[in-house]
Amino acid sequence: MKYLQEKARKLDADDELASFRDAFHIPKHHSGNTVYFTGNSLGLQPKKAKEILIEELDDWAEFGVEGHFEARRPWVNYHEQLMKPAAELVGAKPHEVVHMNGLTVNLHLLMVSFYRPSGKRYKIICEAKAFPSDQYALESQVKFHGYQTDDAIIEVEPREGEHIIREEDIMSAIEENADELALVFWGGVNYYTGQYFDLKSIAEAGHKAGAVVGYDLAHAAGNVPMKLHDWNVDFAAWCTYKYLNSGPGSVSGIFIHEKHANNFDLPRFAGWWGHDKDARFKMDKAFKPISGAEGWQLSNAPIFVMAPHLASLELFHQAGFDRMRKKSIALTAFLQEVIEAVAKEHVAHIEIITPSEPSRRGCQLSLLAHGRGKELFNFLQDHGVSADWREPNVIRIAPVPLYNSFTDALEFGKILSSAYSKEHTV
Ligand SMILES: *Cc1c(COP(=O)(O)O)cnc(C)c1O
Repeated sequence: MKYLQEKARKLDADDELASFRDAFHIPKHHSGNTVYFTGNSLGLQPKKAKEILIEELDDWAEFGVEGHFEARRPWVNYHEQLMKPAAELVGAKPHEVVHMNGLTVNLHLLMVSFYRPSGKRYKIICEAKAFPSDQYALESQVKFHGYQTDDAIIEVEPREGEHIIREEDIMSAIEENADELALVFWGGVNYYTGQYFDLKSIAEAGHKAGAVVGYDLAHAAGNVPMKLHDWNVDFAAWCTYKYLNSGPGSVSGIFIHEKHANNFDLPRFAGWWGHDKDARFKMDKAFKPISGAEGWQLSNAPIFVMAPHLASLELFHQAGFDRMRKKSIALTAFLQEVIEAVAKEHVAHIEIITPSEPSRRGCQLSLLAHGRGKELFNFLQDHGVSADWREPNVIRIAPVPLYNSFTDALEFGKILSSAYSKEHTV
């Protein structure tokens, strides 16, 4: 481990984003810092979050309802501030992005517009082992339209004995079912394996098959580079509390491609915040949607969850996505190197099921500790690692470039090593 120690020190010293760690609250473990590798589940709190939230509370106290216009960041168009910085992260134009509701709610609202089964075109193709909420959303959508789940939902699985879904299998499944597909619905990065899919090719194949293409970017937003506009994706949604550090249950982002911006014939569930801004307070009859993603909003914006998101997006903007991704690739590769060194030292069978090519993963690594599962995970937790256990047998760890260091990766290796050393073996 000696050379890894030296390497971690050097990589941290050369890290041009190192100072961003100070912009976050790092949870404590006894007197030291936690090795926080669960930013894929709940991102850490930016120190600015509290300040900006207090400013909104102060403006509420001072102005009451007039805060809609008088607050330092007027609430009436508060959500507009989030559009541009969030669009930068997903490769969209600002008017293709808006924030509202929670992720699963948005998936349903988007399927109202974009899952339009008719005739023999009614099937949805998706990844096997999609996040449970997405599975439930898809199931309930197909049932809502009067179809059977088993018939209407096609899942593409990894091959026997493999963990990762092969891109070629996705392409051929789309082609084989081309005549019956209404929707290709995919997760950008799989929550379980950390596999980052080729979203450009999936969108192309889906469109070639005559289907609509939508993505769940919960584990992709703020983690991997995307070009939703150029890839011609129809719609997407993500939550902002994972890699985007905006706080538990915070608001969700959606993307609607500009080609649908003025398609007012698309069915949609409407609310007053999606109505033409000039006429919103006239309280007239007849819904007239705003052009672009904003036209899918229903309720007025939840300021107290948007405020921390604004603080967080500012940090992403300052860091710059390209620099962040560059560090992310290096940090994840270093963590992999550390884990492989520990496995070798202890002749332990630790399998990393996440793809090793940087283009096929974000920062998450999913580990299978053969012969040791939950008990290894508990050891890590007890020794100050915040990791995440997913049934049946995966330990997920995500070194996040904005606040994790190369020393964190090394520290993880030391704790992992002591779990395998004789005195701790059970
Ligand atoms: C985290 C996550 C969710 C969570 O949905 P909420 O509606 O925000 O509770 C949904 N889908 C995926 C793929 C996720 O990773």
